[in-house]
Amino acid sequence: MFKKWSFLSFFSLFVAISLLFSTLSFSFFKNSMDLSTNTMPYEECVIVIDAGHGGIDGGATGTNGVTEKDLNLAVASKLAALFRMTGYTVIETRTSDCSLADTDAKKGHVKQSDLTNRLKISNQYPKSVLISIHMNTYPGVDCSGLQVWYSQNNDLSAELANAVQGGVKSMLQPQNNRKIKAATSSIYLLRHAENPAILIECGFISNVEECEKLTTEIYQKELALAIFASLHKKMQNDTCDNTKRMLYY
Ligand SMILES: [Zn+2]
Repeated sequence: MFKKWSFLSFFSLFVAISLLFSTLSFSFFKNSMDLSTNTMPYEECVIVIDAGHGGIDGGATGTNGVTEKDLNLAVASKLAALFRMTGYTVIETRTSDCSLADTDAKKGHVKQSDLTNRLKISNQYPKSVLISIHMNTYPGVDCSGLQVWYSQNNDLSAELANAVQGGVKSMLQPQNNRKIKAATSSIYLLRHAENPAILIECGFISNVEECEKLTTEIYQKELALAIFASLHKKMQNDTCDNTKRMLYY
């Protein structure tokens, strides 16, 4: 009898705790939902994420045979997911292995058509930031480390580039002493971007060790997280500062 009541008491307690936990969980979930409807200032900015190359344009080939286009997409999609989870509106120029060139683009003009269409996507959102993801190569030299290029069309691009370069150094690559670089006319997207725009060379796939790392899911996630955290922190601070807020939108 004693055992039976003990069991029932325990069972009642268990049910009560479960109900309490469910109620608290629901309340927490509801509050989270309510919170997400109150848009934070920086969340009004559209993040355009461009995975470089794709389709017939594989980009560079890594020391282990991996193609740049695949690594670009792997990092870009992880970065996009992080921005989305935080409440930003995210536009991806591609989410699969494809070219963005017009289907009727003439031979010799396919690459230009592809770049023009990427730029069109970015420029169609006036309150946006363009982040293009690429991998670097440098034949014959053991170069390594992430490096960010920025558009010279507005001052904010260099600030965003600095945020990523510095953030990745402190979070992931303490030995990386690379500096951000102003894009020349050779980088079409940055040359013609109308909004703040950066191009991130995530690492050298001509370097055996770095190429191996970049090919792993775990390092791609670390990289995406470091890039996201750097940009989010910078944009969050800027949009709370009314003098800078207008730079984004
Ligand atoms: Zn590239």
